[in-house]
Amino acid sequence: MIGPGKAIGVLGGGQLGRMFAHAAQELGYRVHVYEPSGPSPAGAVADRETIAPYDDAAALEVFARSVDVVTYEFENIPAGPLEAIGGIVGLHPAPGVLHICQNRSREKAWLKANGFPHAGYAEALEGDIGEAAATLGLPCVVKTADFGYDGKGQMRVDTPADLAQAAAIFRGRRCVVEQWVRFEREISVICARTASGETRAFPASENIHTNHILDFSIVPARIPASVEAAARALAARIAEKLGVVGLLAVEMFLARDGRLIVNELAPRPHNSGHWSIDAGETSQFEQHVRAVCGLPLGPTAARNPAVMVNILGDAWTRRPGGPVWAAVLSEPRAKLHLYGKPEPRPGRKMGHFTVQGSDLEDTLALARAIKARL
Ligand code: AMP
Repeated sequence: MIGPGKAIGVLGGGQLGRMFAHAAQELGYRVHVYEPSGPSPAGAVADRETIAPYDDAAALEVFARSVDVVTYEFENIPAGPLEAIGGIVGLHPAPGVLHICQNRSREKAWLKANGFPHAGYAEALEGDIGEAAATLGLPCVVKTADFGYDGKGQMRVDTPADLAQAAAIFRGRRCVVEQWVRFEREISVICARTASGETRAFPASENIHTNHILDFSIVPARIPASVEAAARALAARIAEKLGVVGLLAVEMFLARDGRLIVNELAPRPHNSGHWSIDAGETSQFEQHVRAVCGLPLGPTAARNPAVMVNILGDAWTRRPGGPVWAAVLSEPRAKLHLYGKPEPRPGRKMGHFTVQGSDLEDTLALARAIKARL
């Protein structure tokens, strides 16, 4: 066990690292953030920040020797630095887990090999997209195998003309072509697992995306109790099979035919779990700290229905004066979280707010009203 008072290293300085740092510090840990791009949202609240590239072996070594355990909040970390850190100090989740989850093609192959439900897919270089689509049928979706998030690096293909366009857009890149899933709901389950094998899944969150970016997360998800139980059990089985120590977010589709289909895995805190900061018995960030430090896991229930709404940079560009903060701050049932990012750009996640209440539909209506006024 790595007890309170010790130091936790975090690779990546974004908002997930920032909220992780808040939770770790509340439990008495010190936090050291490593971020290549410059002063960061997590670095601004951490005890220490190292700004250096991932290939700076000397900086990585100093970082690794300054902490008692390392975790990450960002998936696109090259393998080299992870190996270097793992040779010095405990690193969770293990680099092998990240290796699978940071590449769609490896992730799909892993799901397939281990018998977990996933959308039909084929791997393709740009020239084979047509062949893959012919096998899978239209509509389908072409995604780059690596470095994709928030819908970046993907294109829905409905027609032969789209196919030609996709081949041009994805020229030279390894892709995964997926069957389009006709879904009833999109949900995600975040599951924590400790080194001793204890797992605890949070309630499923129902996720509504706009322009491929998460817009609303709704807890409890509006799905039958049996599906909720199956989704949580599925996430726990995946975390177990992967051997995750830390958090695993499992994004799933509830297909119209009632099946659960895994879309994506992320071995880290997840945007769809932010509701847990205000409405959870334990927040996903605290649970992450507990899991990587080998502490007992906390209870995961939601205290009451909750709706989380992302605040994107668009909220600044839409209005000359910027967001109307009073819309959130004057509402006693809403809680505002901003990430301290200086530059609001369209599509950039600047913060979120969470609304709670005793009735889910009423809470969702209030969240929508606040978003509209913001
Ligand atoms: P992803 O980057 O894989 O999480 O995809 C972003 C969003 O695109 C998902 O949350 C879905 O709304 C949609 N999407 C991705 N893949 C599929 C699919 N195979 N079928 C239907 N919708 C999809």
